[in-house]
Amino acid sequence: MESKFYIKLDNKTVECQLCPHSCKIKNERLGICNTRINRNGVLESLNWGVIASSALDPIEKKPLYHFHPGKMIYSIGGFGCNLTCLFCQNFEISQHVPHNVDKLRIVTPSEIVQKTKFHSNSIGVAYTYNEPTIWFEYMLETAEKIKNEGLVNVMVSNGFINPEPLKSLLNYIDAFNIDLKAFSSDFYEKIAKGRIEPILNTLKMIRNSGKHLELSFLVIPNLNDSVEEATQMFQWIAKELGEHTVLHINAYHPAYLLNNQATKLETLKNLYNLAKEKLAHVYIGNSTNADFGQNTICPKCQSILIKRNGFNTSTIGLNAQGKCTECNSEPIVIV
Ligand code: SF4
Repeated sequence: MESKFYIKLDNKTVECQLCPHSCKIKNERLGICNTRINRNGVLESLNWGVIASSALDPIEKKPLYHFHPGKMIYSIGGFGCNLTCLFCQNFEISQHVPHNVDKLRIVTPSEIVQKTKFHSNSIGVAYTYNEPTIWFEYMLETAEKIKNEGLVNVMVSNGFINPEPLKSLLNYIDAFNIDLKAFSSDFYEKIAKGRIEPILNTLKMIRNSGKHLELSFLVIPNLNDSVEEATQMFQWIAKELGEHTVLHINAYHPAYLLNNQATKLETLKNLYNLAKEKLAHVYIGNSTNADFGQNTICPKCQSILIKRNGFNTSTIGLNAQGKCTECNSEPIVIV
C-alpha cells in the first residue's frame, strides 16, 4: 500500500511526512518505525491490514473514563512504533516488527467492520496496543467504514504525528487517549527518542477539534516524577486544554529495557493531589492498591457519578445527557 504522506527528494530518496521524524529513506531502506519502505521511489506501508492483537475490551481499559462508560469496544493493533521508549509496556509488539510483515495475513477494513458488528455489544473500534499512527492508511480506511456504520472510533496514541495526517483522522476518530510521557524535552529525546513539542501540538489540535480527549501519564520513579515537572505539566494541561481535561496517572512496572523500581503508592497519591489542584477529573491506573482516584465525581456538587472497581463500572449519578442527576451540571461524560 502506497503511503499517503511523503515526498520524493531525488531519484533514490523519499522523505516520509507522516510523523515528525521526517525520515529520509533511500531505496530499499526502512524508516525508523520499520514499517515504511522506499521501493524505487515509492514509499510503501508494509503493515497495512496486519493484525498482531485483537480483543473485545472494556472502554475503561484504553483508558477512557468519560466516553461511553461501561461499554465494550473491539480493539485491534499491529506491529511497530515510531518511538522507542526504553520502558515500553507493550514492547513485544511495538519494538519488534516481523521481517516478513508484508507477507503476513491481511485483515481488510471490511472484515474489521464485520468482526465489530459480530460483537453486538461493541460500540466500535479502538486502534491501540502498538502505535496506530504508523498504521495510518489502514486506520483511516477502517475508521471511515466504521463511522459509516454508525459506530465509533477510538485512537490510543503517543501523539507523535504531523498535523496534516492528524487532520484527516479527526474526520473519523471520535475519542483519543494520548500519552503525555513527561513534561521535559530531555526525557522525550533520551528515553523515548522523540520530541515533546509535536505532541503538545497534537493535544491542542485534538482539543480544538472538539473530539473527546483523555491523557495518560505513566509515572516512572526518578525519571519523570519530580514535583516541579509534574506541576508544570498539570498547569499546561489546565491552561491549554482546559481544567476539565481527563488525566490518568498510571503506575509504572519494570518492562523492556528499563528496570527502575515500580511506582510507589505514595508517589501516585502526591501527584494525584497536585493534579487535583488544577484539574477536575484525575484518575489512578495500574495500581490495585489505590483506594483513591477511581470514581468519577461531580466537580460542582461532589456527588459520585460513576463507581469503579477495576474495569467494572456502575453509573449511579448521571442522566441520559451525561449530566449530574443531583445538580444538573454541564455534561461531564459522553454516554
Ligand atoms: S512514520 Fe515511520 S518512516 Fe515515517 S517519519 Fe515516522 S518513523 Fe519515519
